[in-house]
Parts: sequence; C-alpha cells; structure tokens
Amino acid sequence: MTQSITPPAGMPEKIRHYINGEFVDSIDGEEFDVLNPVTNEPYIKAASGKKADIEAAVAAAKKAFDKGPWPKMLPRERARILNKIADIVESRKDELAAMESFDSGLPITQAKGQAARAAENFRFFADLIVAQVDDAFKVPGRQANYVNRKPIGVAGLITPWNTPFMLESWKLGPAIATGNTVVLKPAEFTPLSASLWPGIFEEAGLPTGVFNMVNGFGEEGFAGDSLVKHPDVPLISFTGESSTGQTIFANAAPWLKGLSMELGGKSPAVVFADADLDAAVNATIFGVFSLNGERCTAGSRILVEESIYDEFVERYAAQAKRVKVGLPSDPATEVAALVHPEHYEKVMSYVEIGKSEARLVAGGGRPEGFETGNFVQPTVFADVKPDARIFQEEIFGPVVAITPFSSDEEALELANNTKYGLAAYIWTSDLKRAHNFSQAVESGMVWLNSNNVRDLRTPFGGVKASGLGHEGGYRSIDFYTEQQSVHINLGEVHNPVFGKQ
Ligand code: NAD
Repeated sequence: MTQSITPPAGMPEKIRHYINGEFVDSIDGEEFDVLNPVTNEPYIKAASGKKADIEAAVAAAKKAFDKGPWPKMLPRERARILNKIADIVESRKDELAAMESFDSGLPITQAKGQAARAAENFRFFADLIVAQVDDAFKVPGRQANYVNRKPIGVAGLITPWNTPFMLESWKLGPAIATGNTVVLKPAEFTPLSASLWPGIFEEAGLPTGVFNMVNGFGEEGFAGDSLVKHPDVPLISFTGESSTGQTIFANAAPWLKGLSMELGGKSPAVVFADADLDAAVNATIFGVFSLNGERCTAGSRILVEESIYDEFVERYAAQAKRVKVGLPSDPATEVAALVHPEHYEKVMSYVEIGKSEARLVAGGGRPEGFETGNFVQPTVFADVKPDARIFQEEIFGPVVAITPFSSDEEALELANNTKYGLAAYIWTSDLKRAHNFSQAVESGMVWLNSNNVRDLRTPFGGVKASGLGHEGGYRSIDFYTEQQSVHINLGEVHNPVFGKQ
C-alpha cells in the first residue's frame, strides 16, 4: 500500500534563507528538494546556501551585534522578549509539531512534546539571565576583583535533523539570551519547522539582524562549512555526528574558535538482576524506540545480568513486537518513518549486518503494510558480542543490541567498550552499586533507575567521541559569554621599580 499524506496547514511555498529581517533566495538561485519521509517524494524546495549567502548573513549578524541594541539591552529586557518567544512557540505548538512530524517522520505525539520543550528552553534561559550572579573576589585592604560577563559576537549554530526545532531552540535560547547575534544552519533533511522561527522572532520583537538563517548542506563550499570558516564567527555550537565534529574541529582551528560539540552515542543500559524488571523493560524499550530511535542518548546497547538474561530477552522481544509502527500523523503511532532514504538504507544495512553477527529476536525488516517510505520494524538482537559492529557503531534507528554479563566488573568493561561516552542507564536496587558504577562509567550523563528525563539546569554533554564541552544550565551561559576579570586596587600601589637612576 502506498501511504497517502496531507501536508500540514501553513506550509510555506518554499524554504528560503532569512537574512537581516527578510526571507531571501540563495544568491546563485540554487535550490534542493526536501523529501517526505513517508513517500520519499519531494514535497518542497529549499534554498541551498553557499559562501556568499553565509557572508551576507554574518554581515547582518555582525552589524546587529556591533551597532544594534541587543547586546546592550538589560537582561530583564532581553528576558521579556525570550518569554514572548516561549509564549508564541507554546501557542503554535500543534502547528509546529504537525510540520516537524511531516518533515522528519517523528510520531506526532512525540513531536508535540518536543515543541513544548522548545518553549521551555527560552523560558529557562530568560529566567537564568535575570538571576545571573557573577563572581567577585576580595583580598581585604588590597584588592577587589569582579567578573565582567560579555556577549561574544556572532554565534554559528549548526544543527542535526533529529528533533530539529527543539535542538535549534536549545542553542538559540542561550545564544541570544546572553546578547549574541546568530546565524543558524539547520539540517538539510529537515528545514521545515525552522522556517517558522523568523515569524516567531518578529512577533516577539527581536531586533532585526539578531537572528539569521541560511539553509543548505554542510560540506565544503556549502553553508555549514562556510559558516565554520567565516572569520567573523568566533563561536560554533554544533550537534551532529562525531566524524562531522572532527572536520569542524580542524576547520575552526586556524581561528581558535570557541567550540561546543554534542556528538554521537552508543549508550549502555545496564540491567542488574536486582532491578525492578517491569520498570527496566519499559524504560529500555522507550529509551531506544522513542523518537524512532533517532536519539543521541538512546540506550542502544542493553547489558543484562546472566541470571535474568533469558527472561529479559523474552519479555523485551515480546514488548518490542507490540510497539506500534504507523504514520507520523497518527496519534497512536509509537515508531514512524526514519528521516530520509539515505538514513533508512544505513539503518537497514545494520539490520542485515546484525543478522550475521547476532540472534535476531524481534523485527528485522520493513513492517507489513508500509511498502513506501522509511519504515523499519523495531528490531532486537540478542547475544551480541562486544566486537560486533552493531555493538560498537551508532545506528541511530530502532535497533537494539542485548548482551549478557556475569559480574559488575564485566558489566563496566562492556559499558565502557566503545569509542562513545554520551549517556549510561543503570537499573539496580543496590544504591552503593548504582553510585559506584556511575563514578566508573565513561559517560557524560547517567540515569539511575530512570527514563531519559533531564532537568534543564544540569550540564549536558558527552566524553570520548561523544562530545567536547558541556551545554545546559550555567554551562551554556559560560559558553556564550566572555568572562573578563577586572582587578581593582584598594591599597597602596606596589610598583616594582625598573631602571631607577
Ligand atoms: P551530521 O553531522 O551529518 O550533520 C549535522 C549538521 O552538520 C547538519 O546541519 C549538516 O549540514 C552539518 N554539516 C555537515 N558537514 C559539515 C561540515 N563539514 N561543516 C559544517 N557543517 C556540516 O549529523 P546528522 O546526521 O544530521 O545528525 C545525527 C547525528 O547527530 C548522530 O550522530 C547523533 O548522535 C548526533 N546528535 C547528537 C546529539 C547530542 O546532543 N550529543 C543530539 C542530537 C544528535
């Protein structure tokens, strides 16, 4: 059956750049097709940005930074606009979610959750800048010192296609809250929801030139690469694949740019025999199959203690088979279409690799009734060996690897046995073990007996190949600001004497 789909209301005629307060086409007029993940038919054209478009966007952002009101406004004034942005995003949540779901293939209920989170990101950073306290230090009778926090300039924001609107808000919120101006380069697979930002920002009263957006590809000569190499962009916040992060790191080196990198993952979920098994099965199903498995923090390697291994695998496979695959727009859908045919091919190739490396216990193909589009059955492999490719490599789809362990030491060794280190999930009723394991596991974040729920105040980031630096809460404020120390003499002037006659 070929799926029929109706485009959501409010669809633009085409996707354009937004520079200095205006929607514009690429200077060379080039465009590319954006595909609908349910049919893989092109449904809209998007402007393909190159160096010249980035130059125009950076010039507008630089002018707004150097001459415009935004960096000089009081935090309270900026916060008012950020709160308005949050209100507008919230009030347009359904429209936004419909576009996001249509463009990216995310199930609609999950897209709504992401839109709500996007609003929260602006509200959170509005609160944070108003309550911002800077350091001050005293040496009584001699010196006082304080920290002068300043916006840095034009921030380059480069984002991936998974939960695109939310991830854009995660960078836009702190970047503009702190007084910077920005050039956003959204992911080429999913530019639709980003096309709503200009209207939202204009309605909220963000001054012209503070937000600019150039669509298009990332590779050399295209928008992403040109943004990284622009000398007037001192900061790059990037979320995407680890290999792209390495390229950006090298390309930004000549300017010693400030870099924040949220990269790939292959996170372990470790289930000990004393865990609440119902909760562990539910959470680990959600952890890898929500967001179509296109989640950087997916717990895509499940390590299970030997004594409960067979029972866990059986229950897990049975539950995976009940996960409802459906159209992105159907509120009952739990897993929908992967973003793009290229990504579908990649995920399917790992499914085939998995069949030769391990024991397939659920899924393993295209779901019945979905002959077109990027649909993959929730797929579970058991008895996966640590050197298997499906254990080591990020698949970024609804595919999970389950491996047994027989001791705490072996669990830790397996958990740490990949190049990645983004998240870890630990299921046990022994608190000492939980905390000791957390200390030893090589990951930027740990969830104990918990789903992937994050308090916005906590640092977010990975270690090893999963990232560089942390954002989230005050760490984002630190990344997007310069911290200048001012030293004040309170006593006598002690000048060393040089060259006295
Ligand atoms: P990607 O690296 O292919 O692309 C990400 C963005 O970078 C896109 O906008 C792309 O156009 C741009 N880009 C590509 N090459 C570039 C270059 N040379 N210079 C500048 N920009 C360039 O990643 P993707 O496939 O869009 O996203 C999926 C990846 O993102 C997964 O690896 C996932 O784990 C990761 N991710 C990480 C986090 C996190 O917080 N750690 C969150 C979400 C996604």
